Amino acid sequence: MVGLSNDIAHSPKLGAPSNGQSTREHKWDKRSLVIRGKAKSVCTTNEFDRCRMLFHDDMTAGDGAKKGTMENKGRINCGISAKLMTELNSINIPTHFIEQTSPVTQIVHRLDMIPLEFVCRNVVAGSMAERLGLEEGASIAKLSNNVFPCLIDVHLKNDELHDPLISQDIAQALNIVSEKDLNMIVSLTHSINYFLQDYMKPKNIEVIDFKLEFGHDVENKIRLGDEITPDSCRFWEIGTGRKMDKDRFRRNLGLVEETYKELEYTIVGQENS
Ligand code: C5P
Repeated sequence: MVGLSNDIAHSPKLGAPSNGQSTREHKWDKRSLVIRGKAKSVCTTNEFDRCRMLFHDDMTAGDGAKKGTMENKGRINCGISAKLMTELNSINIPTHFIEQTSPVTQIVHRLDMIPLEFVCRNVVAGSMAERLGLEEGASIAKLSNNVFPCLIDVHLKNDELHDPLISQDIAQALNIVSEKDLNMIVSLTHSINYFLQDYMKPKNIEVIDFKLEFGHDVENKIRLGDEITPDSCRFWEIGTGRKMDKDRFRRNLGLVEETYKELEYTIVGQENS
């Protein structure tokens, strides 16, 4: 089981949503009680400032076009995300993660999510390679003569529009995020990237790219939400380039469960059961 991070342990407990303490109170009142996503569900708890997140075995790709399930995926992803977010909390990068309460369940800070996805890229892969006709595998630092250590793409979360790529300017112009919050999120994304690369390199794994989502907690503080798992990151084995992430499912590469289990063992250290 994982412990509380310092700021969580010391934060005052909020009572009912009508206590008038939160600047975002009006939004909270309109929240639905349960959200069923593709790979996770979120429901409220009897503590106003906390939610329960449940990880499922469902696996989708291509905007839901390809659907499947993978036995143990919920458990593997729950454990990996819990471990990585615990590490982030311990270096004062605020995440929603509070505690793992079962192999597939976490208690997390309740967040009012910003409807944006931030994709951080260290190496050209996936949609960037396709969109720009580039080969996968080129380092962003090398391509840019070390001007950019990584790139941060912003996507609008909108199923009907298929999560379009937008600019940071558009996100601000449409009042989806304030300049101050955007600067904070970009800075946190760089810090998370440094952490992930440092954490995975000794395990012989290169962090190619990953997707992050952020939200405001009930005290209006920005925290990393969602998950950090092989569903949301590309991990390649150093030396061989072996793919250790959801591309095994997306691209029908086989050994999906075996590779997820291997990653679980590498990151969590043991089966999270
Ligand atoms: O699709 P694309 O190549 O742009 O994905 C970049 C990174 O973001 C990958 O690690 C992918 O797993 C992640 N991603 C995600 N959820 C999405 C889109 C991308 O986790 N909706």
